[in-house]
Amino acid sequence: MQKTNVPRGDKSPAPAPGQRQTRQREIIFDIIKSSNGPLTIPQIHDKALKSLKGKKSPGDKSIGIATVYRTINLLQDNQLIHSVILPSGETRYESSHLDEHHHHFQCVKCSHVYDLGICPVGIPNGTTIPGGFQVQSHELTLFGLCPSCTGSKKTR
Ligand SMILES: [Zn+2]
Ligand SMILES: [Zn+2]
Repeated sequence: MQKTNVPRGDKSPAPAPGQRQTRQREIIFDIIKSSNGPLTIPQIHDKALKSLKGKKSPGDKSIGIATVYRTINLLQDNQLIHSVILPSGETRYESSHLDEHHHHFQCVKCSHVYDLGICPVGIPNGTTIPGGFQVQSHELTLFGLCPSCTGSKKTR
């Protein structure tokens, strides 16, 4: 039986696996960075597919959900992004450049989660509240209707 000739080390037009990974990582990180709120893995996957389809350059225009999971883990390990766990238990991801203290607003109609630029909690860290509880931090998620669902104004 003749051996199948596996081409290697020749002038292959396909990008090296490392290059492809870098590109996928860039696309996913860009999606998370440019979002106006934390995103779920399926949302990131969806946006990555749309972004790849929009690219004019040839090459692989698909990305699997497993790749998205793997890339998210990698970005988390590199501390470029971190997870946000909502009161519902749902995990979303946001860029670590949002290190400033902030809160989230989840729309009860469209389920989108937005970053809020304000902190409505009037209890500074270090305050001792009645009962002798020393506050070190807080988490807060607001729920309601977002501007695009009430039709009041554009959100982007
Ligand atoms: Zn909404
Ligand atoms: Zn706060």
